[in-house]
Amino acid sequence: MKSTPCLLCKHTHFYLLKDGRLECTACNHRYSPTKRAQTLELLEAFLAQHSPQNTAHTLGISLPTVQKNFAHFRHLCAILCERAYESRAGAFCEYEEYLFLPASKQKNLYQMVEGIGIMGLSTGKHVYTLLMPDHLHTYDAQIRANPEFIHTLSNYYQWHKISKLTTSATPLSRFWVFLEEFLKGFYGVKREHFGAYLKEAEFRFNHDKATQKSLLAQAWREHEARRLRAKMITTQEPPLSQVWKI
Ligand SMILES: [Zn+2]
Repeated sequence: MKSTPCLLCKHTHFYLLKDGRLECTACNHRYSPTKRAQTLELLEAFLAQHSPQNTAHTLGISLPTVQKNFAHFRHLCAILCERAYESRAGAFCEYEEYLFLPASKQKNLYQMVEGIGIMGLSTGKHVYTLLMPDHLHTYDAQIRANPEFIHTLSNYYQWHKISKLTTSATPLSRFWVFLEEFLKGFYGVKREHFGAYLKEAEFRFNHDKATQKSLLAQAWREHEARRLRAKMITTQEPPLSQVWKI
């Protein structure tokens, strides 16, 4: 029977096995069409920004499975962002440093040392981001010695002015607003996971919905093919005891 191309050899003819799985007639790779369809549904839910809880409920999948898949898609977004950066490396013309500070910490100016520094680069159309090393606490002694110094820092980052979009907004200023809105949907992101969410926001900002879907689906297929090939190599390798006997 015919099916979507085999992940490993792109062949389109398969045997239907008793357990419902398909086996490629060229390379014998087996896969479950039901599981593949579920992965696509998870990808759609991720792209539509449905919560893991709702997705688990709607698709009848356990919450840890949904969370694991969403984290994997987020990781693929980061890979795609890095690839895009490599292809546009010479085209960046705008740079801006931004300070991300959760809304709960924005009321007290002195809490800005808890913020996360981000360097933004733009080609005029696409953006690329880099997480800055945690460095704001290095200003602690200076702020203690001169509390007014916090205003100098605040003016430098201008984080309190970002929320106002103007018609002359640059891609980076639009991206900072987009990032703030995007992160609100998660009700708090742990600091150690911030980089992954930042890359997801960058990916979503740089591509329209249809492109996001085709890029992410393609990246998933490539990643899965690499994983399967690696698995085949390790399972084909003879046990170490046999190697020594030779
Ligand atoms: Zn095959």
